[in-house]
Amino acid sequence: MTDDDQGESPRVPPKLEHPPVAAPTVDRGRCDQCGYLLKGLPGRGNCPECGSAYTPESAARLKPWPSVMMICLSLGWPLFGLIFFGAISFVEYANLLACYGYPMLVAVPVNSYFQVRWMLKHHLPEKKRTEGFIAGFRALGTVIALLIFLLTITPLLLFGACLVIMAGSSF
Ligand SMILES: [Zn+2]
Repeated sequence: MTDDDQGESPRVPPKLEHPPVAAPTVDRGRCDQCGYLLKGLPGRGNCPECGSAYTPESAARLKPWPSVMMICLSLGWPLFGLIFFGAISFVEYANLLACYGYPMLVAVPVNSYFQVRWMLKHHLPEKKRTEGFIAGFRALGTVIALLIFLLTITPLLLFGACLVIMAGSSF
């Protein structure tokens, strides 16, 4: 209203209270709770979409999804290993399949479980990861991975049990 106010406001704009040096903007981070793109926003603050607080670290947690090729490789390497050792065991070295094929077989459920967990953690916003059908799929996936794991180590357990029984009966 006064000449004083009008004269002062252009000289002291409110944004100067937080120097830009102390609050670098987020280049391409995402809100790790809802996935909102935080591009151009201050390094720390609250997500405009869901209101969750974010930091440069949390904004950097979510990465773009890897290519289909990378997903196939990270999930499928034990299978590729199995196929590889299966193929060469047909040719000559059958013992290789027993030595390396079996660990690969056990690695299928273990690797899948941890790879999927890692992927969901780094590529899916927290709210999508822990709610709704994704949470259901995660629970289902955990059960399936556990079942396959138990299935693959059953021969080893049986073998171990046989050895114990045989060792026990020989005395
Ligand atoms: Zn958000």
